[in-house]
Amino acid sequence: MPSLAPPRRLLFGPGPTQVEPRVYDAMTKPVVGYLDPFFFEVVEEIRRDLRVLFGTSNPMTFAVSGTGSAGMETAVTNFSGPGTKLAVFVSGFFGDRIAEMGRRHGATVVKCEKPWGETFSEAEATEFLNRERPQLVAFVHAETSTGALQPPLAITRPARAIGALVIADCVTSLGGVPIDADLNGIDIAYSCSQKGLSCPPGLAPITVSSRAAEHLKNRTNEVWYLDLNLLNDYYDAPHKYHHTAPISTFYALREGLATIMDEGATNRYARHQRSHDEFVRRIEALGLAMHVAPGFRIATLNTVRVPSGADDLAVRKRLLSDHDIEIAGGFGPLAGKIFRIGLMGPLATPENVGLFCSAFAECLKSVLPI
Ligand code: PLP
Repeated sequence: MPSLAPPRRLLFGPGPTQVEPRVYDAMTKPVVGYLDPFFFEVVEEIRRDLRVLFGTSNPMTFAVSGTGSAGMETAVTNFSGPGTKLAVFVSGFFGDRIAEMGRRHGATVVKCEKPWGETFSEAEATEFLNRERPQLVAFVHAETSTGALQPPLAITRPARAIGALVIADCVTSLGGVPIDADLNGIDIAYSCSQKGLSCPPGLAPITVSSRAAEHLKNRTNEVWYLDLNLLNDYYDAPHKYHHTAPISTFYALREGLATIMDEGATNRYARHQRSHDEFVRRIEALGLAMHVAPGFRIATLNTVRVPSGADDLAVRKRLLSDHDIEIAGGFGPLAGKIFRIGLMGPLATPENVGLFCSAFAECLKSVLPI
C-alpha cells in the first residue's frame, strides 16, 4: 500500500487552519505514557501559555481531550443542569448550540436573540438579564457563523451585577485576538486547537475562575469524561488517572503555543489585525461588502457578502480546484449570502492576503454572469 498523501491545501477557511511545520514535527516525536513525568512537563508548559492567551491567572486552566465542542460541553455540563437557569445570547449558530446543549442537560434555557451578525449592547443585556435573573450566562465571543465579535463587558458587567457566572465561547478568538478573561470578568472560557492556535483539531483549552471552581464543589449534576474536578485531579499533582490523554496532540499544542510565545502574543494580535485591515481594504476595492459592521468584526474570520448573481458554491469549488484554497460559505439564514474567510496563524500576512484576494477576484469573475 502506498503511504497516505493528503493534498496540500491553503486553509483560508474558519478552521482547521494552516498548521505550522514545527507543529507537524512535534507530532512525530516518541509517545510517552499518560503518567510520564515528561508528559506533565509538556502539560505545564501548555497550561502556562494558555493562561497568557486567555489573559488569566486561573489555576484551573488546561486542555480537555476533544474538539471545541468538548470545551463547550465541559462548560455547559459542569455549571448547569436541572434547576439551573441558563441565559444564552444568540445571534448565530454557535450561540444556539450552547442553548441546545443546556436544554439537553436539563437546564432551563432562556435566549436573548438578534439577527445573525449583530452583537449585544450593555443596555440590551442588562434589560434581559435583570428580567430573567439566571444563575448562568453564556455568549459567543467570536461567532464563527457570522464573523461578529461580541464585546465581553457588555454582557459580563450586567451578569456579574446579578451574581451569575459567565461562560464565553472563545473557539475562534483564542490566539488571534485578545480575550483578557480576568479583566473582562469571564468565569469560564473554552476554545479549540485548530483555529487561532494553528494546530490540528483534537484539544479544547479551557479556563475556570476561582469563583466558578468554588461552584463545582456543590454542583448536583453528574458527568464523567468532562468532569472538571476529575480532570483537575489528573492534570494537577499527584496526577490521578482519568483517561489516556492523546499524547501526540498535546505535543502539537505545546509546539503551537511555543511558536506563539516566540512571536509574542501582543505582536501576534497586531499582525492579525493588520492582515484583517489589509483584507478589508482589498475586498472593498473589489466592490465587495463586509457582512459585519466596522468595530465588531473578528480580525481572524472575515465574512464577505456574496455579490448578487454569484453562486458562492461555484466560487468555493473553483478556489479549491484551481488554487488549492479552502474557504467556507454561510449557513442557516446566511446560506448563500456570505463567504467565510479565515486569516489565522501563518496565513495572516499581507503577502498571503494579496495571494488570496487575487485568486478570489479571479474565481468570482469567472462565475459572475456577463
Ligand atoms: N464554537 C464555535 C464558535 C465554533 O466556531 C466551533 C467550531 O467551529 C465550535 C464551537 C465547535 O468546535 P469543534 O468543531 O472544534 O467541535
